[in-house]
Amino acid sequence: MTLHQNLIAGEWVGSEGVANINPSDTNDVVGEYARASAEDANSAVAAAKAAFPEWSRSGILERHAILKKAADEILARKEELGRLLSREEGKTLAEGIGETVRAGQIFEFFAGEALRLVGEVLPSVRPNIGVEITREPVGVVGIITPWNFPIAIPAWKIAPALCYGNTVVFKPAELVPGCAWAIVDILHRAGLPKGVLNLVMGKGSVVGHFMLDSPDVQAITFTGSIGTGKRVAAASIEYNRKFQLEMGGKNPFVVLDDADLNVAVEAAVNCAFFSTGQRCTTSSRIIVTEGIHDRFVAAVGERLKAIVVDNALKAGTHIGPVVDESQLKQDTDYIEIGKSEGAKLAFGGDILKRDTPGFYLQPALFTEATNQMRISREEIFGPVASVIRVKDYDEALATANDTPFGLSSGIATTSLKHATHFKRHAEAGMVMVNLPTAGVDFHVPFGGRKGSSYGPREQGKFAAEFYTTVKTAYTLA
Ligand code: ADP
Repeated sequence: MTLHQNLIAGEWVGSEGVANINPSDTNDVVGEYARASAEDANSAVAAAKAAFPEWSRSGILERHAILKKAADEILARKEELGRLLSREEGKTLAEGIGETVRAGQIFEFFAGEALRLVGEVLPSVRPNIGVEITREPVGVVGIITPWNFPIAIPAWKIAPALCYGNTVVFKPAELVPGCAWAIVDILHRAGLPKGVLNLVMGKGSVVGHFMLDSPDVQAITFTGSIGTGKRVAAASIEYNRKFQLEMGGKNPFVVLDDADLNVAVEAAVNCAFFSTGQRCTTSSRIIVTEGIHDRFVAAVGERLKAIVVDNALKAGTHIGPVVDESQLKQDTDYIEIGKSEGAKLAFGGDILKRDTPGFYLQPALFTEATNQMRISREEIFGPVASVIRVKDYDEALATANDTPFGLSSGIATTSLKHATHFKRHAEAGMVMVNLPTAGVDFHVPFGGRKGSSYGPREQGKFAAEFYTTVKTAYTLA
């Protein structure tokens, strides 16, 4: 089997390989991927540092052309890359292809942004002096990504980093090296000078840890767990480095008495269970007012009966497997915790057997949950959701906001008054009205508040905030 190597200083390197296993079929090895050492990470940082002066001064047309070429190739290969994604991560083929298209669109967007770099020119308060405000690249950017969006998250960090003239050391999650390798290969062949983008596939505790402790990494963008996020923050403060954290959520989805029942059920089932509940924008707290509660729970139960959990690559599958054994254990542990806390397991929660050996879990729906239970406060990151019954809109809003997180918040209602009030008062970075809490566009800001996120927003024009530093220049006329 071909060994997919790391890219350091423009060379493919590495000998020791690790098998990438398909969670829908654990007999299926997706490929062998090199495992980087701390020395490799050191070489990657040195290469990115050496490449920075020239790349930071490269022409905007060169950056545009490379990003556009990468976008075109990703979009042209969407079926193949989408299949690779589904095979290594376990989301359905439709979701895998959709995510791949999104990655292509992100590269296309930032190819355009490279041609739209703007500054400001304004008069000084002192006569005969002009002021220019410009944005410059930050330097070497460390990119550390999770397994749940194997191509979109790398894309939305790598594309702006390169667009604004930074060089990159990219460490993908151990479970999904396939898509990471593929986009680095595409960018490399699109003509990136050596050292501008370095790939170090390897362990967080080795490669990631090295990046955190490298004074030559000027910025780190991280998506993953709270624990690792805190490490990134502490190490970055030490080096006076810019950092950006995206650490998940416990997103509420409110259903009011006046909701359109079909809209509410579709949105709730989508955001609680699709992509196996493994999205930071998943909603695992469904907060329902008492007038619609019983009808809503019955309709969700009916809808769940029609959901097919099976091999991600199989036609007709709605929900693929959980990503690996330890995540499956975490999900089933939380199901036991929910039961022991007194919530009622109204649907699902069983481990399922399918034709191929994989980590299949039937979506689990709890009812009679309270917002104080652990299943309502801690991120589970699986297809496990709870319904919390409330009296009215005011209690629903208070419950929705009563969480340490603040990524995405949704409501199903036909009331303009409540929708407007909710948009204004939901303590979250993103608010959805009559839509699932998950499912966001690539050209607008993504991010949260409270315990979910730290630093500037990702995606769209707002990405410039993190990937550039501002300069103010004064000139005597
Ligand atoms: P998840 O629960 O999504 O696996 P992690 O925070 O463990 O969350 O992983 C997210 C990313 O952070 C992965 O690429 C992982 O390898 C990396 N990582 C894990 N531990 C560390 C660490 N100590 N230092 C730097 N990166 C790490």
